[in-house]
Amino acid sequence: MNRPYPEIVSPTPWSLPPAERAEINSLQVGVLALQGGVLEHKLMLRHLGINPREVRTPVDLEGLQGLIIPGGESTTIAHLLDLHDLRDPLCKQIQTGLAVWGTCAGLILLAKQDDNDVPRSLGLMNIQVKRNAYGSQIDSFFLESKMAVLGDHPFPTVFIRAPVITTIGTDVEVLATLPNGSPIAARQHSMLGTTFHPELTGDPRFHSYFLDMIAAY
Ligand code: GLN
Repeated sequence: MNRPYPEIVSPTPWSLPPAERAEINSLQVGVLALQGGVLEHKLMLRHLGINPREVRTPVDLEGLQGLIIPGGESTTIAHLLDLHDLRDPLCKQIQTGLAVWGTCAGLILLAKQDDNDVPRSLGLMNIQVKRNAYGSQIDSFFLESKMAVLGDHPFPTVFIRAPVITTIGTDVEVLATLPNGSPIAARQHSMLGTTFHPELTGDPRFHSYFLDMIAAY
């Protein structure tokens, strides 16, 4: 995507004092690398000073502090989680403090199951979702969204066969909505979910927010 992005206002590792920058750079952050937009998240993390780890097996989870579950196809990722024996160790680690961020299909996998065609998800976040809620690939769209946690400048939000968050449960904070009020970013303690794709923009503020969240845990 070739478009001008607003000035970045949130702290990024290179604008932090050396001690805090060192703390961010040493974080052990992984990307679930079974299917989907793995490379784009890795590039964004590298840009922010992180040496990201690809997670494919339970051993890859050792010592990990933060994990991104990328967008892609949630049915496929769910199937591969089982094939790689990752479901139970991943759930346990998230429940004991591994910070996690699901983008799009990743969010679907974190959500509680709804009565629609959501694949067997991890069911950890107190939200329910409806998959492909805006239609098919050609109904994908882009807009700028206000997000208080990222400062005054709107954030570029890319929606690709995105889900809609239909229910927000206890302990879940809505971080951003569409103009019609539909939640597009939500956080439950150390779990974060977005229905859009920050890794497909040139704006690292959401990844920076996740790194701050990991450091805080
Ligand atoms: N529609 C996909 C699913 O249901 C998600 C699309 C995406 O991650 N961009 O899994």
